[in-house]
Amino acid sequence: MAAEIMQSSPMLVAGGAGFLGSHLCERLIGQGRPVLCVDNFVTGELHNIARLMEDSRFRLQRHDVSDPFEVAALGGIFNLACPASPVHYQADPIRTTMTSVRGTYNLLEIARSAGVRILQASTSEVYGDPAIHPQSEAYWGHVNPTGLRACYDEGKRCAESLCFDYQRKHDVEVRVARIFNTYGPGMQIGDGRVVSNFIVQALRNQPLTIYGNGDQTRSFCYVDDLVEALLAFMDAPRGLRSPMNLGNPEEFTVLELAELVIELTGSHSRMIFLPLPHDDPTQRCPNIELARQQLDWNPRVRLREGLTRTILYFERMLEHQRSRVRKGIKVAPVQGSGTAGKVAAETAGLGPGVLEISHVRR
Ligand code: NAD
Ligand code: UDP
Repeated sequence: MAAEIMQSSPMLVAGGAGFLGSHLCERLIGQGRPVLCVDNFVTGELHNIARLMEDSRFRLQRHDVSDPFEVAALGGIFNLACPASPVHYQADPIRTTMTSVRGTYNLLEIARSAGVRILQASTSEVYGDPAIHPQSEAYWGHVNPTGLRACYDEGKRCAESLCFDYQRKHDVEVRVARIFNTYGPGMQIGDGRVVSNFIVQALRNQPLTIYGNGDQTRSFCYVDDLVEALLAFMDAPRGLRSPMNLGNPEEFTVLELAELVIELTGSHSRMIFLPLPHDDPTQRCPNIELARQQLDWNPRVRLREGLTRTILYFERMLEHQRSRVRKGIKVAPVQGSGTAGKVAAETAGLGPGVLEISHVRR
């Protein structure tokens, strides 16, 4: 039987050097809880956790979770290890599937032998291009199992299935969080996702790259709200229903997002329209009734406010990048191919013409 969370034992955060993971590590350390961050830095960045490295309660283990590993006493496990931006997860799709499937398997084995709870970062992508709107947890989804997004969508679906089998077979206490589009400070300039692309492009007065006609919708959750939900989900007493949607149900078209970013940055950017990526979901909005009832949680940061904070962060990041370029330090390349990969590369500061970029290990 899984133990209750031991506050003095470290929480293992797989993917803790990434965007969400680093915010989560900061919050845990802020609560006085020790953290063991496990990351292979495929999309994570040392600078995300630089401040934490100075804290004696924070430990970093560089490891690929798809390879088995052992750890000493633990309080619980958050599994966030997996690239989340389409550009990055499609750059090495086989590795993405292995990260979700083998990685989750290895972490479930650790949870089983340590007798601790595990929170699995799943995704709205398990609903694919949804035929039901908004999406509630009861919906089984509409996923193309052979397309370019399948490595992520099906990898995460298989990871969910493993989680529930470990719960049924081995009494491991699993909490599956289906996270919807989350943004905020800490994203990389070359992340490739829509919020970071638009803000960086707007701050540089470059055209905002709209894929398709911009009618597709997403519902954007600010990172602090999401991390609060992850912590509440992990810490809540036994007997919760899972999987659980976590996100902000305020829905926007991509075009509306672009207009808002241009307004908030005061940019002179125009918009250009590029081909829609394969299987790009046409609409996405979470039904979060379950999270409201079970966690008494509600996202608080509206898009306008969250974007304003994120714009300030990217202004600093771009200034930092400019000063590195002035000193002759090379900008790290971005993974990926196709239109989205090319846009991510250009946004990262590699300039036009970089179509195929090698996989990055930092
Ligand atoms: P991210 O790419 O910034 O972070 C992922 C982290 O996992 C990185 O630090 C990366 O280096 C690490 N990682 C990847 N593969 C690994 C491996 N095999 N072994 C060890 N570490 C590995 O992405 P994010 O936005 O922070 O997302 C974190 C998690 O949340 C992911 O699992 C993602 O699927 C899930 N999620 C995020 C969102 C979102 O909008 N941010 C939405 C849905 C789901
Ligand atoms: N998108 C866009 N321009 C960009 C990046 C993304 O129009 O520069 C669109 C993308 O086609 C999708 C939406 O924005 O419809 C969200 O994309 P993102 O990659 O952020 O995440 P997804 O929800 O698709 O995983």
